[in-house]
Amino acid sequence: MMIAEILCVGTELLMGQVLNTNAQFLSRRLSALGVSQYHQTVVGDNADRLEEAYRLALSRADVVITSGGLGPTVDDITKRVAAKVAGKELVLFPQAEEMIRQRFRQYHKNMTPNNMSQAMFTPDTTLLLNAHGTAPGAIVPMGEGKVVIHLPGPPMELQPMWLNQAEPWLQARSGKTLVSRYIRIFGMGESEVDQRLADLETGDNPTLSPYCSLGEVQLRATACADTPEAALQLLQPLIDEVKARLGDVIYAVEDNESGSLARCAVEALKHRGWTISACESLTGGLMTSALVDVPGASTVVRGSMITYQSESKTMLAGVPKELIDRCGVVSAEVAQAMAQGVREKLDTDIAISATGIAGPDGGTPETPVGTVFVGIATRSGARVMHLQLTGSRDRIRTLTMKHAMNAVRQEAERN
Ligand code: AMP
Ligand code: MG
Repeated sequence: MMIAEILCVGTELLMGQVLNTNAQFLSRRLSALGVSQYHQTVVGDNADRLEEAYRLALSRADVVITSGGLGPTVDDITKRVAAKVAGKELVLFPQAEEMIRQRFRQYHKNMTPNNMSQAMFTPDTTLLLNAHGTAPGAIVPMGEGKVVIHLPGPPMELQPMWLNQAEPWLQARSGKTLVSRYIRIFGMGESEVDQRLADLETGDNPTLSPYCSLGEVQLRATACADTPEAALQLLQPLIDEVKARLGDVIYAVEDNESGSLARCAVEALKHRGWTISACESLTGGLMTSALVDVPGASTVVRGSMITYQSESKTMLAGVPKELIDRCGVVSAEVAQAMAQGVREKLDTDIAISATGIAGPDGGTPETPVGTVFVGIATRSGARVMHLQLTGSRDRIRTLTMKHAMNAVRQEAERN
Protein backbone atom coordinates (compact mmCIF):
# COMPACT_ATOMS: atom_id res chain seq x y z
CA MET A 1 0.00 0.00 0.00
CA MET A 2 1.30 3.43 -0.97
CA ILE A 3 1.65 6.04 1.77
CA ALA A 4 1.35 9.72 0.94
CA GLU A 5 1.86 12.83 2.99
CA ILE A 6 0.61 16.31 2.23
CA LEU A 7 2.94 19.22 2.99
CA CYS A 8 1.39 22.65 2.53
CA VAL A 9 3.82 25.54 2.33
CA GLY A 10 2.87 29.12 3.11
CA THR A 11 3.02 31.46 6.08
CA GLU A 12 -0.46 32.70 5.14
CA LEU A 13 -1.81 29.26 6.09
CA LEU A 14 -0.18 29.41 9.53
CA MET A 15 -1.55 32.90 10.10
CA GLY A 16 -5.09 31.83 9.26
CA GLN A 17 -5.30 34.25 6.34
CA VAL A 18 -5.98 31.46 3.88
CA LEU A 19 -8.02 28.35 4.63
CA ASN A 20 -6.13 25.19 3.74
CA THR A 21 -8.59 23.89 1.17
CA ASN A 22 -5.80 22.24 -0.83
CA ALA A 23 -5.22 19.78 2.02
CA GLN A 24 -8.90 18.90 2.07
CA PHE A 25 -9.07 18.47 -1.68
CA LEU A 26 -5.95 16.32 -1.86
CA SER A 27 -6.94 14.23 1.15
CA ARG A 28 -10.28 13.41 -0.34
CA ARG A 29 -8.71 12.43 -3.64
CA LEU A 30 -6.06 10.31 -1.97
CA SER A 31 -8.57 8.44 0.12
CA ALA A 32 -10.72 7.86 -2.97
CA LEU A 33 -7.62 6.39 -4.61
CA GLY A 34 -7.01 4.10 -1.67
CA VAL A 35 -3.71 5.81 -0.85
CA SER A 36 -3.00 5.91 2.89
CA GLN A 37 -2.10 9.08 4.78
CA TYR A 38 -0.84 9.16 8.33
CA HIS A 39 0.32 12.75 8.74
CA GLN A 40 -0.21 16.21 7.26
CA THR A 41 1.98 19.25 7.71
CA VAL A 42 1.68 22.99 7.24
CA VAL A 43 4.93 24.92 7.27
CA GLY A 44 5.70 28.61 6.73
CA ASP A 45 7.95 30.05 4.02
CA ASN A 46 11.11 29.28 5.98
CA ALA A 47 13.90 27.19 4.45
CA ASP A 48 15.15 25.50 7.63
CA ARG A 49 11.76 24.46 8.86
CA LEU A 50 10.71 23.35 5.39
CA GLU A 51 13.84 21.21 5.07
CA GLU A 52 13.05 19.58 8.40
CA ALA A 53 9.46 18.97 7.27
CA TYR A 54 10.67 17.33 4.02
CA ARG A 55 13.08 15.02 5.83
CA LEU A 56 10.45 13.94 8.32
CA ALA A 57 7.76 13.42 5.65
CA LEU A 58 10.16 11.46 3.42
CA SER A 59 11.14 9.26 6.35
CA ARG A 60 7.57 7.99 6.69
CA ALA A 61 5.86 8.35 3.29
CA ASP A 62 6.48 7.17 -0.29
CA VAL A 63 4.99 10.26 -1.89
CA VAL A 64 5.18 13.75 -0.44
CA ILE A 65 2.77 16.20 -2.05
CA THR A 66 3.52 19.88 -1.64
CA SER A 67 1.23 22.81 -2.32
CA GLY A 68 2.38 26.40 -2.72
CA GLY A 69 5.66 28.23 -3.01
CA LEU A 70 6.28 27.65 -6.72
CA GLY A 71 6.11 31.35 -7.57
CA PRO A 72 8.98 33.59 -8.70
CA THR A 73 9.54 35.56 -5.49
CA VAL A 74 12.18 35.05 -2.81
CA ASP A 75 9.72 33.45 -0.40
CA ASP A 76 8.90 30.74 -2.96
CA ILE A 77 11.34 28.10 -1.78
CA THR A 78 9.50 24.81 -2.12
CA LYS A 79 11.50 23.44 -5.09
CA ARG A 80 14.86 24.81 -3.97
CA VAL A 81 14.63 23.18 -0.55
CA ALA A 82 13.47 19.86 -2.04
CA ALA A 83 16.50 19.94 -4.36
CA LYS A 84 18.76 20.51 -1.37
CA VAL A 85 17.22 17.53 0.44
CA ALA A 86 17.72 15.43 -2.72
CA GLY A 87 21.32 16.68 -2.94
CA LYS A 88 20.81 18.05 -6.46
CA GLU A 89 21.03 21.35 -8.33
CA LEU A 90 18.17 23.12 -10.09
CA VAL A 91 18.71 23.50 -13.84
CA LEU A 92 16.76 25.35 -16.51
CA PHE A 93 14.15 23.25 -18.32
CA PRO A 94 13.72 24.81 -21.81
CA GLN A 95 10.33 23.11 -22.15
CA ALA A 96 9.16 24.77 -18.94
CA GLU A 97 10.62 28.11 -20.03
CA GLU A 98 8.62 27.94 -23.24
CA MET A 99 5.47 27.10 -21.30
CA ILE A 100 5.95 30.10 -19.05
CA ARG A 101 6.70 32.43 -21.98
CA GLN A 102 3.55 31.24 -23.68
CA ARG A 103 1.49 31.91 -20.56
CA PHE A 104 2.87 35.44 -20.32
CA ARG A 105 2.06 36.10 -23.99
CA GLN A 106 -1.43 34.82 -23.39
CA TYR A 107 -1.90 37.17 -20.40
CA HIS A 108 -0.23 40.05 -22.31
CA LYS A 109 2.20 40.55 -19.45
CA ASN A 110 5.91 41.21 -19.43
CA MET A 111 8.16 38.52 -18.12
CA THR A 112 10.72 39.57 -15.53
CA PRO A 113 14.01 37.65 -15.10
CA ASN A 114 12.96 36.18 -11.75
CA ASN A 115 10.14 34.32 -13.55
CA MET A 116 12.84 32.03 -14.93
CA SER A 117 13.08 30.43 -11.49
CA GLN A 118 9.74 28.85 -12.27
CA ALA A 119 11.41 26.93 -15.11
CA MET A 120 14.17 25.48 -12.88
CA PHE A 121 13.98 21.90 -11.68
CA THR A 122 16.30 19.07 -10.70
CA PRO A 123 17.44 17.14 -13.83
CA ASP A 124 15.34 13.99 -13.38
CA THR A 125 12.07 15.87 -12.84
CA THR A 126 8.82 15.09 -14.68
CA LEU A 127 7.02 18.34 -15.44
CA LEU A 128 3.33 18.91 -14.84
CA LEU A 129 1.76 21.46 -17.15
CA ASN A 130 -0.10 24.34 -15.60
CA ALA A 131 -3.10 25.20 -17.76
CA HIS A 132 -4.26 27.99 -15.45
CA GLY A 133 -1.12 29.79 -14.31
CA THR A 134 2.58 30.29 -14.92
CA ALA A 135 4.19 27.88 -12.44
CA PRO A 136 4.60 24.33 -13.74
CA GLY A 137 4.28 21.54 -11.22
CA ALA A 138 6.77 18.72 -10.91
CA ILE A 139 7.31 15.13 -9.92
CA VAL A 140 10.76 14.90 -8.38
CA PRO A 141 12.52 11.61 -7.55
CA MET A 142 14.07 11.80 -4.08
CA GLY A 143 15.93 8.47 -4.01
CA GLU A 144 14.91 5.12 -2.53
CA GLY A 145 11.88 5.09 -4.83
CA LYS A 146 10.35 8.08 -3.11
CA VAL A 147 9.03 11.17 -4.87
CA VAL A 148 7.95 14.69 -4.12
CA ILE A 149 5.06 16.06 -6.16
CA HIS A 150 5.06 19.86 -6.32
CA LEU A 151 1.74 21.56 -6.95
CA PRO A 152 0.98 25.29 -7.19
CA GLY A 153 -0.84 27.02 -4.30
CA PRO A 154 -3.90 28.51 -6.01
CA PRO A 155 -6.66 25.88 -5.85
CA MET A 156 -7.76 26.77 -9.39
CA GLU A 157 -4.34 25.68 -10.63
CA LEU A 158 -3.74 22.83 -8.20
CA GLN A 159 -6.97 20.96 -8.75
CA PRO A 160 -6.87 20.43 -12.53
CA MET A 161 -3.14 19.68 -12.37
CA TRP A 162 -3.79 17.03 -9.75
CA LEU A 163 -6.78 15.48 -11.47
CA ASN A 164 -5.44 15.49 -15.03
CA GLN A 165 -1.77 14.77 -14.47
CA ALA A 166 -0.65 13.77 -10.98
CA GLU A 167 -3.43 11.32 -10.26
CA PRO A 168 -3.06 9.32 -13.50
CA TRP A 169 0.69 9.22 -12.85
CA LEU A 170 0.13 7.81 -9.36
CA GLN A 171 -2.31 5.21 -10.63
CA ALA A 172 0.03 4.10 -13.40
CA ARG A 173 2.84 3.83 -10.89
CA SER A 174 0.88 1.62 -8.56
CA GLY A 175 0.22 -0.68 -11.54
CA LYS A 176 -3.28 -1.29 -10.20
CA THR A 177 -6.65 0.05 -11.09
CA LEU A 178 -8.90 1.48 -8.46
CA VAL A 179 -12.60 1.58 -9.12
CA SER A 180 -14.98 3.43 -6.83
CA ARG A 181 -18.73 3.62 -6.60
CA TYR A 182 -20.60 6.19 -4.56
CA ILE A 183 -23.72 4.97 -2.80
CA ARG A 184 -25.91 7.90 -1.85
CA ILE A 185 -28.34 7.74 1.01
CA PHE A 186 -31.08 10.08 2.16
CA GLY A 187 -33.43 9.46 5.05
CA MET A 188 -31.18 7.45 7.36
CA GLY A 189 -28.66 8.90 9.79
CA GLU A 190 -24.97 8.05 9.73
CA SER A 191 -25.05 6.08 12.98
CA GLU A 192 -27.93 3.93 11.78
CA VAL A 193 -26.13 3.31 8.46
CA ASP A 194 -22.98 2.47 10.39
CA GLN A 195 -24.79 0.07 12.65
CA ARG A 196 -26.24 -1.85 9.73
CA LEU A 197 -23.01 -1.97 7.76
CA ALA A 198 -20.36 -2.14 10.49
CA ASP A 199 -19.08 -5.57 9.48
CA LEU A 200 -18.75 -4.48 5.82
CA GLU A 201 -16.65 -1.45 6.74
CA THR A 202 -13.70 -3.44 8.03
CA GLY A 203 -12.70 -5.01 4.69
CA ASP A 204 -9.39 -4.27 2.95
CA ASN A 205 -10.41 -4.86 -0.62
CA PRO A 206 -13.02 -3.75 -1.41
CA THR A 207 -13.25 -0.99 1.18
CA LEU A 208 -16.44 0.69 2.27
CA SER A 209 -16.34 4.05 4.00
CA PRO A 210 -19.11 6.42 4.99
CA TYR A 211 -18.97 10.17 4.62
CA CYS A 212 -21.77 12.52 5.57
CA SER A 213 -22.92 15.88 4.37
CA LEU A 214 -26.02 17.86 5.23
CA GLY A 215 -28.75 15.29 5.79
CA GLU A 216 -27.11 12.77 3.53
CA VAL A 217 -24.79 9.85 3.95
CA GLN A 218 -22.51 8.79 1.16
CA LEU A 219 -20.69 5.49 1.06
CA ARG A 220 -17.61 5.09 -1.04
CA ALA A 221 -16.94 1.54 -2.12
CA THR A 222 -13.49 1.07 -3.66
CA ALA A 223 -11.84 -2.01 -5.07
CA CYS A 224 -8.29 -2.42 -6.29
CA ALA A 225 -7.38 -4.94 -9.00
CA ASP A 226 -5.29 -5.44 -12.12
CA THR A 227 -8.09 -4.38 -14.46
CA PRO A 228 -11.22 -2.23 -14.12
CA GLU A 229 -13.35 -5.28 -14.86
CA ALA A 230 -11.76 -7.28 -12.08
CA ALA A 231 -12.19 -4.36 -9.67
CA LEU A 232 -15.87 -4.08 -10.56
CA GLN A 233 -16.29 -7.79 -9.98
CA LEU A 234 -14.95 -7.35 -6.48
CA LEU A 235 -17.19 -4.36 -5.93
CA GLN A 236 -20.52 -5.67 -7.12
CA PRO A 237 -21.27 -8.17 -4.32
CA LEU A 238 -20.52 -5.46 -1.75
CA ILE A 239 -22.87 -2.99 -3.45
CA ASP A 240 -25.60 -5.64 -3.69
CA GLU A 241 -25.24 -6.41 0.01
CA VAL A 242 -25.46 -2.72 0.96
CA LYS A 243 -28.58 -2.36 -1.19
CA ALA A 244 -30.16 -5.39 0.46
CA ARG A 245 -29.50 -4.00 3.93
CA LEU A 246 -30.52 -0.37 3.34
CA GLY A 247 -33.24 -0.58 0.70
CA ASP A 248 -35.09 2.52 -0.49
CA VAL A 249 -33.01 5.08 1.42
CA ILE A 250 -30.38 4.58 -1.30
CA TYR A 251 -31.22 7.09 -3.97
CA ALA A 252 -28.28 6.56 -6.30
CA VAL A 253 -25.24 4.40 -6.97
CA GLU A 254 -22.88 6.42 -9.14
CA ASP A 255 -19.36 6.32 -10.46
CA ASN A 256 -18.57 9.89 -9.40
CA GLU A 257 -19.33 12.23 -6.55
CA SER A 258 -21.26 14.82 -8.49
CA GLY A 259 -24.78 13.44 -8.14
CA SER A 260 -27.52 15.16 -6.21
CA LEU A 261 -31.02 14.43 -4.97
CA ALA A 262 -32.36 17.06 -7.36
CA ARG A 263 -30.69 15.35 -10.30
CA CYS A 264 -32.23 12.03 -9.34
CA ALA A 265 -35.60 13.75 -8.96
CA VAL A 266 -35.34 15.32 -12.42
CA GLU A 267 -34.24 12.03 -13.95
CA ALA A 268 -37.12 10.19 -12.33
CA LEU A 269 -39.55 12.84 -13.62
CA LYS A 270 -38.14 12.61 -17.14
CA HIS A 271 -38.34 8.86 -17.06
CA ARG A 272 -41.98 9.03 -15.99
CA GLY A 273 -42.81 11.82 -18.45
CA TRP A 274 -44.05 14.04 -15.62
CA THR A 275 -44.08 17.81 -15.26
CA ILE A 276 -43.57 19.52 -11.90
CA SER A 277 -44.38 22.80 -10.20
CA ALA A 278 -43.69 24.13 -6.72
CA CYS A 279 -45.27 26.50 -4.23
CA GLU A 280 -42.56 27.66 -1.87
CA SER A 281 -42.70 29.55 1.38
CA LEU A 282 -39.71 29.11 3.70
CA THR A 283 -37.54 27.78 0.86
CA GLY A 284 -38.12 30.97 -1.14
CA GLY A 285 -37.25 29.36 -4.48
CA LEU A 286 -34.61 26.91 -3.24
CA MET A 287 -36.57 23.86 -4.38
CA THR A 288 -37.11 25.22 -7.86
CA SER A 289 -33.52 26.41 -8.02
CA ALA A 290 -32.27 22.91 -7.13
CA LEU A 291 -34.40 21.43 -9.90
CA VAL A 292 -33.28 23.92 -12.54
CA ASP A 293 -29.64 23.44 -11.52
CA VAL A 294 -29.95 20.15 -13.36
CA PRO A 295 -29.25 20.52 -17.10
CA GLY A 296 -32.32 19.68 -19.13
CA ALA A 297 -34.74 20.55 -16.31
CA SER A 298 -36.82 22.59 -18.75
CA THR A 299 -38.54 19.47 -20.02
CA VAL A 300 -40.05 18.81 -16.59
CA VAL A 301 -40.13 22.05 -14.59
CA ARG A 302 -43.15 24.07 -15.65
CA GLY A 303 -42.90 26.87 -13.10
CA SER A 304 -43.32 27.81 -9.49
CA MET A 305 -44.77 30.28 -7.04
CA ILE A 306 -42.96 31.89 -4.16
CA THR A 307 -45.68 32.60 -1.63
CA TYR A 308 -43.82 33.97 1.32
CA GLN A 309 -46.48 35.94 3.20
CA SER A 310 -49.86 34.36 4.00
CA GLU A 311 -51.74 36.66 1.63
CA SER A 312 -49.77 35.46 -1.38
CA LYS A 313 -50.64 31.84 -0.58
CA THR A 314 -54.26 32.86 -1.01
CA MET A 315 -53.73 35.21 -3.98
CA LEU A 316 -51.46 32.94 -6.03
CA ALA A 317 -52.10 29.37 -4.90
CA GLY A 318 -55.73 29.83 -3.93
CA VAL A 319 -55.26 28.61 -0.37
CA PRO A 320 -58.51 29.64 1.42
CA LYS A 321 -57.90 32.44 3.94
CA GLU A 322 -60.29 30.63 6.25
CA LEU A 323 -58.00 27.54 6.18
CA ILE A 324 -54.95 29.61 7.08
CA ASP A 325 -56.84 31.31 9.94
CA ARG A 326 -58.16 28.02 11.25
CA CYS A 327 -55.08 25.77 10.95
CA GLY A 328 -52.21 28.25 10.97
CA VAL A 329 -49.99 29.07 8.03
CA VAL A 330 -47.47 26.43 9.14
CA SER A 331 -49.73 23.40 9.03
CA ALA A 332 -50.27 20.20 7.13
CA GLU A 333 -53.56 21.52 5.77
CA VAL A 334 -51.97 24.64 4.29
CA ALA A 335 -49.02 22.70 2.84
CA GLN A 336 -51.43 20.36 1.11
CA ALA A 337 -53.56 23.23 -0.21
CA MET A 338 -50.42 24.98 -1.52
CA ALA A 339 -49.32 21.87 -3.42
CA GLN A 340 -52.79 21.24 -4.81
CA GLY A 341 -53.20 24.90 -5.67
CA VAL A 342 -50.05 25.23 -7.73
CA ARG A 343 -50.59 21.84 -9.35
CA GLU A 344 -54.04 22.85 -10.58
CA LYS A 345 -53.02 26.36 -11.66
CA LEU A 346 -50.05 25.13 -13.68
CA ASP A 347 -51.62 21.79 -14.59
CA THR A 348 -48.58 19.66 -13.72
CA ASP A 349 -48.44 15.96 -12.96
CA ILE A 350 -46.84 16.57 -9.59
CA ALA A 351 -46.37 19.59 -7.34
CA ILE A 352 -44.44 20.18 -4.16
CA SER A 353 -44.85 22.79 -1.47
CA ALA A 354 -43.16 23.80 1.76
CA THR A 355 -44.28 25.91 4.68
CA GLY A 356 -42.40 26.10 7.95
CA ILE A 357 -40.34 28.06 10.42
CA ALA A 358 -36.70 28.43 9.43
CA GLY A 359 -35.83 30.55 12.48
CA PRO A 360 -33.95 31.79 14.30
CA ASP A 361 -37.09 33.70 15.38
CA GLY A 362 -40.76 32.96 14.93
CA GLY A 363 -41.04 29.71 16.85
CA THR A 364 -43.80 29.07 19.40
CA PRO A 365 -44.22 26.22 21.90
CA GLU A 366 -46.72 24.51 19.58
CA THR A 367 -44.77 25.26 16.41
CA PRO A 368 -41.07 25.46 17.29
CA VAL A 369 -38.32 26.56 14.90
CA GLY A 370 -37.67 23.71 12.49
CA THR A 371 -41.32 22.71 12.10
CA VAL A 372 -41.83 22.17 8.38
CA PHE A 373 -44.63 20.72 6.29
CA VAL A 374 -43.85 19.53 2.77
CA GLY A 375 -46.82 18.87 0.52
CA ILE A 376 -46.78 16.53 -2.47
CA ALA A 377 -49.72 16.55 -4.84
CA THR A 378 -50.22 14.36 -7.91
CA ARG A 379 -53.17 13.81 -10.22
CA SER A 380 -54.29 10.98 -7.96
CA GLY A 381 -54.04 12.61 -4.54
CA ALA A 382 -51.94 14.51 -2.04
CA ARG A 383 -49.91 13.85 1.03
CA VAL A 384 -47.94 15.88 3.55
CA MET A 385 -44.67 15.19 5.34
CA HIS A 386 -44.26 16.70 8.79
CA LEU A 387 -40.57 17.40 9.47
CA GLN A 388 -39.06 18.48 12.75
CA LEU A 389 -35.66 19.84 11.73
CA THR A 390 -32.88 21.35 13.79
CA GLY A 391 -29.97 23.68 13.20
CA SER A 392 -29.46 27.00 11.49
CA ARG A 393 -31.86 28.78 9.17
CA ASP A 394 -29.73 27.73 6.26
CA ARG A 395 -29.67 24.12 7.29
CA ILE A 396 -33.43 23.96 7.87
CA ARG A 397 -34.15 25.46 4.46
CA THR A 398 -31.67 23.18 2.67
CA LEU A 399 -32.93 20.06 4.43
CA THR A 400 -36.50 21.00 3.51
CA MET A 401 -35.44 21.18 -0.13
CA LYS A 402 -33.71 17.79 0.10
CA HIS A 403 -36.72 16.11 1.68
CA ALA A 404 -38.89 17.52 -1.10
CA MET A 405 -36.48 16.30 -3.82
CA ASN A 406 -36.43 12.85 -2.29
CA ALA A 407 -40.23 12.76 -2.13
CA VAL A 408 -40.43 13.73 -5.81
CA ARG A 409 -38.03 10.95 -6.72
CA GLN A 410 -39.98 8.38 -4.70
CA GLU A 411 -43.31 9.54 -6.08
CA ALA A 412 -42.12 9.47 -9.68
CA GLU A 413 -40.58 6.04 -9.25
CA ARG A 414 -43.74 4.62 -7.65
CA ASN A 415 -45.86 2.41 -9.89
P1 AMP B 1 1.86 30.43 -3.41
O1 AMP B 1 1.98 29.55 -4.60
O2 AMP B 1 2.44 29.83 -2.18
O3 AMP B 1 2.36 31.81 -3.65
O4 AMP B 1 0.32 30.56 -3.11
C1 AMP B 1 -0.47 31.37 -3.93
C2 AMP B 1 -1.84 31.49 -3.36
O5 AMP B 1 -2.48 30.23 -3.37
C3 AMP B 1 -1.94 31.91 -1.90
O6 AMP B 1 -1.90 33.28 -1.71
C4 AMP B 1 -3.27 31.35 -1.49
O7 AMP B 1 -4.30 32.23 -1.87
C5 AMP B 1 -3.38 30.09 -2.31
N1 AMP B 1 -3.00 28.94 -1.51
C6 AMP B 1 -1.76 28.53 -1.19
N2 AMP B 1 -1.77 27.41 -0.45
C7 AMP B 1 -3.06 27.09 -0.28
C8 AMP B 1 -3.73 26.04 0.40
N3 AMP B 1 -3.05 25.08 1.04
N4 AMP B 1 -5.09 26.00 0.35
C9 AMP B 1 -5.76 26.97 -0.30
N5 AMP B 1 -5.19 27.98 -0.95
C10 AMP B 1 -3.86 28.07 -0.95
MG1 MG C 1 3.45 31.25 -0.89
